[in-house]
Amino acid sequence: MTIPLTDLSHDDLSALHQQLSSEHAELAARGVCLNITRGKPSPAQLDLSADLLTIDVPSHAEDGQDVRNYGGNRGLPEIRRIFGELLGVDVDHIIAADNSSLAIMHDLAMFAFVHGIAGQQPWSGQNVKFIAPVPGYDRHFAICEHLGIDMIPVELGEHGPDVDEVAKLAADPSVKGMWVVPMYANPNGAVYDERTVRALVSMPAAPDFRIWWDNAYALHHLTDVERPALPVLQWAEEAGNPDRVFELASMSKITFAGDAISFLASSQANLDWYLGHAAIRSIGPDKVNQLRHARYLRDADGVRKLMRAHREILAPKFAAVEEILTRRLGGRGVASWTHPAGGYFVTLDVMDGTASRVVALAKEAGIALTPAGASHPLHRDPHDRTIRLAPSFPGMDELREAMEGVSTCVLLAASEKLLKG
Ligand code: PMP
Repeated sequence: MTIPLTDLSHDDLSALHQQLSSEHAELAARGVCLNITRGKPSPAQLDLSADLLTIDVPSHAEDGQDVRNYGGNRGLPEIRRIFGELLGVDVDHIIAADNSSLAIMHDLAMFAFVHGIAGQQPWSGQNVKFIAPVPGYDRHFAICEHLGIDMIPVELGEHGPDVDEVAKLAADPSVKGMWVVPMYANPNGAVYDERTVRALVSMPAAPDFRIWWDNAYALHHLTDVERPALPVLQWAEEAGNPDRVFELASMSKITFAGDAISFLASSQANLDWYLGHAAIRSIGPDKVNQLRHARYLRDADGVRKLMRAHREILAPKFAAVEEILTRRLGGRGVASWTHPAGGYFVTLDVMDGTASRVVALAKEAGIALTPAGASHPLHRDPHDRTIRLAPSFPGMDELREAMEGVSTCVLLAASEKLLKG
């Protein structure tokens, strides 16, 4: 029978602790080297798009542009059309860039710092703040940290944060942005709902306040429920705030993470502002790769089909994580975890005050986990509770071994803490 650790007598808890310590020591002695730190596609997923390496690419795009030459900083219409359809955005409101949407986010922030958004003062020299739903994506927080943007954490629920709390914060004119990963959020799998999003696009805020709508996982369903992307640009326009949203997306986890295409979708005014600055930085994106992708994927259905093949590889890995966590930690009262319907991550919440200890114990056992605190601004998890699991990269056997090991570490850290009182 499974008994919560808190219900065990002191003797039983000591005995369990002894047993877990020797399991942990055995693991450490085996000298394994397992890594579930980052949401990278596995080699099998990259192989799905192997034809991209050999496909013939013509020299000219459908509008007659020579893709080998400079220019065309909005990106090719054929690839913008495909992704525009997938995001529910008109082709005129989406531009295609090079391989990283994170790079666009960084550029947007830099342009805001140096030049200001929408005729407003540059952010440089101001005490700029961003609303940061937690747990969140560590690289978003790293951009803020790097540029000196203060982050205000708000708790991220299953359907988004509390909109009243957010609206109160956004009323402060020094609050200039909010991070949102609307579908299958990194790392807790949250999916924003219509009520939340309509509130976010209509709340009063500074004229240069933007929602940084990072739709990195819009197409990354883990079940056969393929929800459409929310029409956030349309809702912002309907709310009278057409410039409220910078929408980002990319093909990093569709084709090749290191050689894909990124997208920015927004109002015409925002795109013109961005392109005005981006044109100084570059004479145009890698259009050969854009045409290669358009030829290879063919149309929106080509992308959907490819995403189903990704799902076939990923879903069993998430199922294995769920199975092992349930078997090892279910009913023990020391952990809870998310059951994402898409995306790349599972959030594991362990007993308060033990997340760093779990990560350290895992490291001793040869299992690399994302550092504790990574999902919080400035790496500060006030409860030392949240651990991000990234099951995509390892093979199934390694993943299972890593998850068994992590479960041992979670129980060991909890029993240690309880014994200390
Ligand atoms: N946004 C989120 C939420 C992510 O999880 C990731 C990748 N882990 C990225 C952006 C990175 O996107 P890109 O590869 O387009 O730079």
